[in-house]
Amino acid sequence: MDLGLAGKVAVVTGASVGIGLAVSEGFAAEGASVVMAARGADRLAAEAGRIAAERGVETLALACDVATAAGCAELVARTTERFGGADVLVNNAGSGSNETIQEAPDEKWQAYWDLHVMAAVRLARGFVPTMRARGGGVVLHNASICAVQPLSYEPIYNVTKAALMMFSKTLSTEVVGDGIRVNCINPGLVLTPDWVKTAKQLTADSGGDWQAHLDGVAREHAANGRFATPAEVADFMVFLCSERASYSVGSTYPVDGGMLRGV
Ligand code: NDP
Repeated sequence: MDLGLAGKVAVVTGASVGIGLAVSEGFAAEGASVVMAARGADRLAAEAGRIAAERGVETLALACDVATAAGCAELVARTTERFGGADVLVNNAGSGSNETIQEAPDEKWQAYWDLHVMAAVRLARGFVPTMRARGGGVVLHNASICAVQPLSYEPIYNVTKAALMMFSKTLSTEVVGDGIRVNCINPGLVLTPDWVKTAKQLTADSGGDWQAHLDGVAREHAANGRFATPAEVADFMVFLCSERASYSVGSTYPVDGGMLRGV
């Protein structure tokens, strides 16, 4: 299937590892230029350089903090300077949390709000005009199953991801007339290096069988009993950003191995 992404410019936040890195690889494999954003410059530059060399596409590694207005402004400005704007924006940068509502301070709520919601707001304000000028575009948000099926240990994550899902729907109606499609996905368990690191930490004092720990997590939560690979989720995301998904507008799609217990 030709996804029609060759020659397009795709911006991916949180692109240095995990799902965002796999999405960047996916766009590059389709012949798109990829602007890769994350805070840590070294890892990002290494991955962007590797992808450009392996796939023969242009990549731009842009070290910035998308949880800040200045970081978002820089991402928009540098992308516009280099490519004249973007055809695709994937708001992927995000992070799990761990707290109780009773104990978490205002600052922690604000930090996650800035990362999960304001980054999407600010980047929409920045990139939508460039998409309009190019005759259309795609915005895809990466929320989480926790947006609709909360995990008790991370209330701030649940709430801010639910807000991102609603932002996605609302933005979609505002820009659909400009030929810009906006959607959202809710992944379940995705086996990123961070999950492995956490599993190793949690099992360090009890024999170190981190794989058994992860298998247990997967059996407990996912109907199909396993984690997704980042590439499995990325394939779906790249498809949603392509012309082959042209009738998908304003929706949120679970990609969760059956983890969602409702319909
Ligand atoms: P990882 O922790 O593996 O990677 C996160 C990426 O985001 C890194 O590139 C990180 O780089 C970057 N990042 C984090 N904060 C910022 C910031 N303020 N500004 C710019 N870049 C930032 O994440 P995952 O791949 O696991 O998750 C990606 C998205 O998918 C997240 O939104 C997450 O909530 C969601 N998700 C993940 C699931 C999973 O099981 N893995 C399940 C459901 C949803 P750096 O630290 O250098 O900035």
